[in-house]
Parts: sequence; C-alpha cells; structure tokens
Amino acid sequence: MEQAITQHKPIEEVLLKRPLIISGPCSAETEEQVFQTAVRLAETGKVDVMRAGIWKPRTRPGSFEGIGTKGLPWLQQARKATGIPVAVEVATAKQVEDALHFGVDVLWIGARTTVNPFSVQDIADALRGVDVPVLIKNPINPDLELWIGAVERVAKAGIKTIGLIHRGFSSYGNTEYRNAPMWHLAIEMKRRNPGMMMINDPSHICGRRDILQDVAQTAIDLDFDGLIIESHIDPDMAWSDAKQQITPERLGEMLSAIRWRK
Ligand code: PEP
Ligand code: MN
Repeated sequence: MEQAITQHKPIEEVLLKRPLIISGPCSAETEEQVFQTAVRLAETGKVDVMRAGIWKPRTRPGSFEGIGTKGLPWLQQARKATGIPVAVEVATAKQVEDALHFGVDVLWIGARTTVNPFSVQDIADALRGVDVPVLIKNPINPDLELWIGAVERVAKAGIKTIGLIHRGFSSYGNTEYRNAPMWHLAIEMKRRNPGMMMINDPSHICGRRDILQDVAQTAIDLDFDGLIIESHIDPDMAWSDAKQQITPERLGEMLSAIRWRK
C-alpha cells in the first residue's frame, strides 16, 4: 500500500495542504467497512483526512442514527494502519470528550448543529483548553449570521484552527440539488472570514452521484481550499446517504479529472 504522505505531520500542517481532500463514509458502520475504506482511500494516494460519522443527526427518527462510541476504536485502528488522520462530527459536549479520548484528529460541527447557538456553545465549552482543529458546516438554512456566530463561539473557546465547510442550504420541495449551493453565500462567508479555509462538500449539496464532479469543479474554480466527499466500499448498500456516496476508486478518478487551479 502506498504510504499516506501525511503520516507524521502535525494535524495543523496536514490541514494546510491545498487542495485539502477529506473523504470517507457518511457513517462508520462496521469495523471491516471502516478499515477497508481507509485502506482503499490510502491507495488512491490523494486523501489527506478520513471522515466518518459516528453519531448521525437524522432529520427523521427511525433510520440509522450512528454506531456511536463503539466505532471510535475502529477509526483509531484505521488511522494507525494508514497514517491518515481522522475527522468526526460532534454535536454535544459528551461527543467532544469521547472523540478526543479516542484520539480523533479533527472535529466538525454539522449543519443541524450550527443552527443552534446553545448546542454550539455547549461544544465550545467542551473545547476550552483543547488543541484540536474544528471545521464548521454552514447551517442548514441560508443564514450567514448563524454560521459566523458558530465560528465566533468556537474561536472564543480558544480553538486556533477553524475551517468552514459549505454543504449547501435546505430548500423546500424538489430541486436539482439536495441542498442548493447558493454559491454567493459561501463567497460572502469567505469574504467575511479572510484567511479561514473554506472546503466544499459536494456530496451533501448534490445528494446524488451524477453531478458530484461538476459541483466539485465549480468549487475549485471559485478558489475553494478543498473538498470533503463521501466514499464507501459499497455505496448502494450504505446505511446512510447511499445515493451520494462513491467508491474510493471512483473518488481517485474524479480527483484526477478535476482541473485544479495553478
Ligand atoms: C454528514 O456529513 O454526513 C452530514 C450529516 O452532513 P450535514 O451536517 O452537512 O447534513
Ligand atoms: Mn452524509
């Protein structure tokens, strides 16, 4: 297996790579799935950080809500085997503690959490005195002030490395996208947070595979700093977000086909 180039670097340095590529399953499902995904992502030689949802905020109850804390050691193992740092979504103070206990390298705040200042403050309080990078997704609704407020709360807790993830905005009814990109809002957010990295999440914008590459290309053309793309060893069988996930090999092809800025 090709060694991940990121192996011994401090995480802050890994996150400086441009374009920054984050990939991995919507959800950690089984030990084997996490491990195989990590190995196959490492084989592409193009992935800097592996993502995996451990606690899944689902809009409606009754679907898979995440494997929970038991999945954290799986990520630790995958990290050890590939050298690729791992990122997990956190929505509560307890989740922050658990993730950090198991050596998660990067935390992210999801779109359904960024909308709630109480939740964001709870997370921020748990981060006080901790040195871990935090990525903050845009709120599910097109409200830049909520996004900025979340950034301010996390920054006030002393977190030095903060990044933004643009995952599109919810709108009612069927559209081409699962979440409309509203690119102008991401651009305005970039303008209001100069120097803060902005990653695009085409997976949650598209909700489907066929337009993923086009959206990723648009983000790169707009000078985004990187991409976070969901990948799965058997996308159609994924326990969450099956329609938008792609195999690690397809990810590798897609990243090769994108025209990167010089
Ligand atoms: C996810 O990253 O799997 C997720 C739940 O995304 P979002 O918070 O953007 O809906
Ligand atoms: Mn997902």
